[in-house]
Amino acid sequence: MERVYNFSPGPACLPLPVLEKAAKEMTLYGKTGMSVMELSHRSKAFLEIIQVAEKNLRSLMDIPENYKVLFLQGGASSQFAMVPLNLFKNRKADFVKTGQWAKKAIEQAKAYGSANVVASSEDKIFSYIPVLDPSEFSPDADYFHITLNNTIYGTRFTLLPDVSAPLVADASSIILSQAIDVSKFGVIYAGAQKNFGPSGLCAVVIREDLIGKALPETPIMFNYKTHADEGSLYNTPPTYSIYIANLVFEWLKDQGGVAGIQKVNEEKAALLYGFLDGSSLFKGTAEVKDRSIMNVPFVTGSEETDESFIKEATAAGLVNLKGHRTVGGMRASIYNAMPIEGVQRLVEFMKEYEAKALRGKAQS
Ligand code: PMP
Repeated sequence: MERVYNFSPGPACLPLPVLEKAAKEMTLYGKTGMSVMELSHRSKAFLEIIQVAEKNLRSLMDIPENYKVLFLQGGASSQFAMVPLNLFKNRKADFVKTGQWAKKAIEQAKAYGSANVVASSEDKIFSYIPVLDPSEFSPDADYFHITLNNTIYGTRFTLLPDVSAPLVADASSIILSQAIDVSKFGVIYAGAQKNFGPSGLCAVVIREDLIGKALPETPIMFNYKTHADEGSLYNTPPTYSIYIANLVFEWLKDQGGVAGIQKVNEEKAALLYGFLDGSSLFKGTAEVKDRSIMNVPFVTGSEETDESFIKEATAAGLVNLKGHRTVGGMRASIYNAMPIEGVQRLVEFMKEYEAKALRGKAQS
């Protein structure tokens, strides 16, 4: 069987050269005589992997010196608890409710204090980024939380809120796909399984002064200081996932880094949105000004047609196009590793499907 074009929102497709390199090194890594999976996390070979991974991520994201980079377990969802546990002093934070993941961050923060929702787009199924009114911000908030890109609804923040509290961003579905000015944030966290590796691994980029002030009830494993002090080696980290992440970082450097891939990502998104905007059958669901360049949800307006489209697309090797159950329809996730050829194939397929549907209509 051939490899398909996988439009999954995550775990998502990985660059083929990364998978091929990993396959080549699967049983024998360098001069170690074993697989990366079998290496001690304290071994020289693995220490080199994790240190190079950090160095690469720092250079790709242009992370300032006064930030720590942590490679943690528990996915991005664990950060919904780690952030309040570590940043709460007044036990209060502000949130912008832009989707299911923001809702989960809010719900979890409430376990430790209060979560003030400054704005929400729930009234229109999270299809836009709400305008923020600074008079709604809490003057004593310990942090201000946003989901930079909303994976399910295909929206992204194009303007960062101007806040005095440390800005915390869930960047799971946008990290490394476009330039982000790290210095504007207190914490940026992202699950790996969309833009840099296998699920389970989460990268946390945190300003140093925010470390070491966790609430007394914070479990040791949930304290940023534990991991910052030990270079993410307090316990056994997800070694193989970190190795794959580093292969993705190396691949990304070959693509011209974040600036290089951002260009390709913009081209891919323009191609797909350009088609959607002119289509008489398919329609994008996110508000134009807030559209994500990573996740593109769209519908035909008929559940039956959506289903038939997904079925035919799957048969043509364009898979995982089903939208999230709360929006329905379709969603094409076009992360860094989705080649432009995949998007071209998808658009061609949609064009053909549309023409066929219109012919069918004309005949009936
Ligand atoms: N935040 C966002 C924006 C996501 O898209 C996801 C996963 N789809 C998560 C958080 C949760 O990530 P994880 O499954 O790694 O906990």
